[in-house]
Amino acid sequence: MEIPKQYDPKQAEKNHYERWETQGCFAPEINHDQNAPAFSIVIPPPNVTGSLHMGHALQHTMMDVITRYKRMCGYRTMWLPGMDHAGISTQLMVTRELKKEGINRFELGREKFVERVWKWKKESGGQITRQMRREGVSVDSSREKYTMDEDLSLAVREVFVRLYEDGMIYRGNRIVNWCPNDQTVLSDLEVEKIPQAGKLYYLRYPATNGGGNVTVATTRPETMLGDTAVAVNPGDERFRSLIGSKLSLPLTGRDIPIVADEFVDPEFGTGAVKVTPAHDPNDYEMGVRHQLDQIVVIDPHAKMTEAAGSEFAGLDRYKARTKVVEKFEELGLLEKVVDYEFSISKCERCKTVIEPLISTQWFLRMDELRDEALKLLATSKKPQFVPEIPYEKVYSSWLENLRDWTISRQLWWGHQIPAWYTAEGEVIVARSEAEAHAKAGTDQLTQDPDVLDTWFSSQLWPFSAMGWPEKTKDLDAFYPTSVLMAGRYIILLWGSRMVIMGLKFMGREPFDEVFITGTILDAHGQRMSKTKMNGIDPLEVFDKYGVDATRLKLASVGSTDIRWSDKQVESYRNFANKIWNAARFALMNSEGATIDPETLNAAPELALHDRWIISRLNKTARDVGKALRDYEFHEAVQTLYHFFWDDFCDWYIELTKADVTAEEASPQRTAARTRLLSVLEQALRLLHPFMPYITEELWQQLPGVGKQLLHPAYREAEPTIMLATYPESRAGLIDEGAEWEMQAVIDLITRVRNIRSEMQIKPSEPIPVLIGAPDERLRAVYSANTNQIARLLRASEVSVSDQLDAPRASARAVLVGGAEVAVPLAGLIDFAQEKQRLSKEQEKLAAEAAKLEAQLANPQFAERAPAEKVEEVRARIADIGQRTAQLEQTIGNLE
Ligand SMILES: [Zn+2]
Repeated sequence: MEIPKQYDPKQAEKNHYERWETQGCFAPEINHDQNAPAFSIVIPPPNVTGSLHMGHALQHTMMDVITRYKRMCGYRTMWLPGMDHAGISTQLMVTRELKKEGINRFELGREKFVERVWKWKKESGGQITRQMRREGVSVDSSREKYTMDEDLSLAVREVFVRLYEDGMIYRGNRIVNWCPNDQTVLSDLEVEKIPQAGKLYYLRYPATNGGGNVTVATTRPETMLGDTAVAVNPGDERFRSLIGSKLSLPLTGRDIPIVADEFVDPEFGTGAVKVTPAHDPNDYEMGVRHQLDQIVVIDPHAKMTEAAGSEFAGLDRYKARTKVVEKFEELGLLEKVVDYEFSISKCERCKTVIEPLISTQWFLRMDELRDEALKLLATSKKPQFVPEIPYEKVYSSWLENLRDWTISRQLWWGHQIPAWYTAEGEVIVARSEAEAHAKAGTDQLTQDPDVLDTWFSSQLWPFSAMGWPEKTKDLDAFYPTSVLMAGRYIILLWGSRMVIMGLKFMGREPFDEVFITGTILDAHGQRMSKTKMNGIDPLEVFDKYGVDATRLKLASVGSTDIRWSDKQVESYRNFANKIWNAARFALMNSEGATIDPETLNAAPELALHDRWIISRLNKTARDVGKALRDYEFHEAVQTLYHFFWDDFCDWYIELTKADVTAEEASPQRTAARTRLLSVLEQALRLLHPFMPYITEELWQQLPGVGKQLLHPAYREAEPTIMLATYPESRAGLIDEGAEWEMQAVIDLITRVRNIRSEMQIKPSEPIPVLIGAPDERLRAVYSANTNQIARLLRASEVSVSDQLDAPRASARAVLVGGAEVAVPLAGLIDFAQEKQRLSKEQEKLAAEAAKLEAQLANPQFAERAPAEKVEEVRARIADIGQRTAQLEQTIGNLE
């Protein structure tokens, strides 16, 4: 049988994904074993507005490797895909689209706007789920969910109502992060703190009794219009006598008290601070402690309110700042202005400076809920973090510091808060409008216009996506999920909240383990980002090198951070070609043979190379299985790569070639062919979770593949490698003796091949090979394998004795166990010519080394060149040193 000479990844990718999907291979129902253990995983739902980037490709690959592995091990496997409605991003995107059409969303109205968002989603949203299919991910698309689906919305309302009834959700006045541009409240995580050079203004407030001034320092002078006190530290001697007295607040005609509060840092500014409860979170807390008024002087558009006084009302906050400072100067109350470096809070999305505002919002109390999660971690170490350090600690300290969560957002796109108000202002929280009417006894209700923070629905994902609050079969079978796999940035925000909600509503954690994937950086070690335009499009890499090669690279990242380099993907593409060529050789010599796993049971009568490859195969299966169970992805990739490339292609195929390619049909030839095909078939299965396409493409062409190779749980299914049993190691087939013997032969052959190339002996020229082995066991190994040694080395003779007896003009090498090998050179090469050639090379190297040494000695180079470059030069000098020593020895042998 013959297959195309060249491997075409695109063809293989096209051939299989749809077939797998239509045959139901991705759905758990394909598994007919009633007692099969479950493996389930839910995808971190990407934003409906998103498109595939390297971070997704990385995480999806590792999720798919584990899922395919578990499926081949017979687990009832369910990988649930889906998308997040991404409240603010989606609203911004559609708003922008409307703007291009000249439509303002407020003119359009909420209902029409929401319709428009759904239309957008249907037509152009979810690009990412289409792109994901390219990755070969074995997700069950029939279970795909969207956080705004009707059933998931039901779950959101159910959770809201129950938390409200338990007193965990409340409505209150709080100081919040407000974006005047987006007109919405933001969570602390949506706010960036950016260091900025600004000014610190020292303002004098005169005492009411005419006895001097108190100076306060502020970066936001306009807020003084809303001051309701000045605070000092109770231990600060400078102000002790003033506590309880009053100050006349300039520009307002109001008198404000001086209060004592431990919070005040005597070292900051003058030691006295202005207190603006309505516009600063710390002042808000202080205001509560001292029962101070909250005077709102800045409105949601960052303009001054009526309460700021008629002179200021309507002014933008920065205009008001200038005006306040001017007025203070006129009044002689501006003590000084100094340069000041401080952090300014900006909206993560639109970069507008945040205005802290008092506002009525919905909050979720976190204290009791997070205590449950902390208790679970302390008592049963769940979830289990991989790597445990530092992530377990990161997770627990995040939980410890969790404050009440502002869950309402002033958006139109999202889950509208299931709270209604009566004309009298009574609050009715209900699962539906009808339930609200029934509860209120009237249909004269207005629903709260706000929506819930997007994270409110995504924290329910592991159970809402499986149909909660209904008691579904999926929840029964697949909750808790087996593992959460995500980048480190998500474990805090999303992971911890899923644990909290899982415990509260399912009574169990949502996943047993959390695997934190590494990050792919650009070639310079920078994080890839849209704004920096340094991202690499995974789809382009797929096109260039094939999906399988890219997946192998991505899987090998594991939990470390790496810099991206196309070179590494290229080397995995070469690996794919190597696999193809090896399979092609086996198939071209497969007449009369058929896959038979039975031939992989070792028997004493088998040749050394057969016992050896069976042992290597079983060791590889053992090591890869362990690596996958421990999420050691890098280890797994390296083990497979080494086995397939070195052991299987470079050695086994060479060692078995003579038998496999024998012209005459014979039982021996058939047995060799069958064994080669069967090792190949096992190797393809081992590789399948990483390289699904090429392995399936080749597997389908192997003679004798069929249902009998499938895992017993899938015996009803059409034959496919993805449902074949994942090779398990059998301890009895690991043969350390055979591995030691074969390694001795490999070592010998490698050394003599080096001699051949070193001495430039033509490959076709037969050479004598003399071996001296004082160790009896080694001697026996060499003697037993003289035929293989002679064939692979094109040796005219192979002689084995206990002491090496070779002419002086021989090339020599030391072997394992004190053995030695020599190749007499007389008649093979022209000594004089060879000596000259080698001396020339020596001279050239000496010149190069001198040049490099001079470069290193140049202080300008040492200081300015990048560290990698300097390292490269050093490494080259070391190489030259080694090579020169080698040449020295070779020339010596020619004397
Ligand atoms: Zn904003």
